[in-house]
Amino acid sequence: MTIEAIDKKYVLPTYGRSAVEFVSAKNATLRDSDNKKYIDFTSGIGVVSVGHANERVTQALCTQLAKITHISNLYYIAPQANAAQKVVQASGYDMQCFFGNSGAEANEGAIKIARKHGERNGEIKRYKIITLKHSFHGRTITTVKATGQEAMHNYFGPFPDGFVYADTIDAIESLLDDHTAGVMIELIQGEGGVEPQNKAKVQALAKLLKEKEIPLIVDEVQTGAYRTGAFTASQLYEIEPEIITLAKGVGGGVPVGIVMTSLKNVLSAGDHGSTFGGNYLSATAVCEVVDILQELDAKGVLQETSDYFNKSLEKFYTNHQDTFTQKVGIGMMCGLRVKDAQTLTSILSKAQENGVMLLKAGRNTLRFLPPLTITKEEIDEGFQALNSAMSDL
Ligand SMILES: *Cc1c(COP(=O)(O)O)cnc(C)c1O
Repeated sequence: MTIEAIDKKYVLPTYGRSAVEFVSAKNATLRDSDNKKYIDFTSGIGVVSVGHANERVTQALCTQLAKITHISNLYYIAPQANAAQKVVQASGYDMQCFFGNSGAEANEGAIKIARKHGERNGEIKRYKIITLKHSFHGRTITTVKATGQEAMHNYFGPFPDGFVYADTIDAIESLLDDHTAGVMIELIQGEGGVEPQNKAKVQALAKLLKEKEIPLIVDEVQTGAYRTGAFTASQLYEIEPEIITLAKGVGGGVPVGIVMTSLKNVLSAGDHGSTFGGNYLSATAVCEVVDILQELDAKGVLQETSDYFNKSLEKFYTNHQDTFTQKVGIGMMCGLRVKDAQTLTSILSKAQENGVMLLKAGRNTLRFLPPLTITKEEIDEGFQALNSAMSDL
């Protein structure tokens, strides 16, 4: 049986998969089962931040795995403590971390902290969480409800109560009331179409929420780990959220989700937990990934790569004005708005045929999330393939 046939027979059909099977990879270059080469402008949806098969990450994991992989959170775990220290120090915020296994789980933790904080503060129970339209916060029953997309609220109800959606950042203020436990936003909506929020408006919102003692939760599952240039996009926006969630890029391919918060005394022993979260495997990955990215950042390499990528993307965009209407995004989280959905679908399939992997996002967006370690040669090769794809349309 082919892999496709086995998958179709034994795996639930929750994904619309492309008929390609990758078997090996190095940095931003993938090989499929026919040894065809592809440039990866997706990094596995923003996950493989330090590139595929990164030697330092592989080495650190192999060394750790040969010693001890898992012992549960009933004991001190050195790599977890070290990972927390590295993440907090890279952020510059005075926070503590909780480790889970995914972005959705990190957001669940964030919501639990905001709601327990709402219980402690004042006699009225604060439970409402305000999120934005077009947002994406995960696939669990709670985080799918937190996601501001009606189409995702089918079938699975009844959902937890208390989620309210604001059309825009501006509309949040009028929704705040005595029951509001928190406001959760992405600074750049990823799935929603690589849509950055206005910095001044976000700063005004952050200030307003501080006055009202309502925690601001920034979902940095996609924007975190230097994706936008700083360790967190919150640093780029010069705000101090009470809660930040990380996942995707911070583990470099090993599943991990992190909630960081300045609200250190809200959760106590027994309030929250995870069997796997922050075990020796995932925490070691976080330590190594953060070290690598911090070093590259200090040397100016991340900025240089981002500049080169954006220059190449700008040139590509300028040459195809008949197809694309806008270039969007920040740093290595970029997109091109396509004139219609049909064209976007064709570009994605022609790109794959020509050997470059891309993503789509809401608002008819062609999405680029390359590894932060992508080389200039790989960038050139990727755009060459993309140009060929455009000629094939
Ligand atoms: C991907 C994503 C999530 C969900 O992460 P999972 O690891 O798939 O649970 C949540 N929020 C944002 C902003 C994301 O991009």
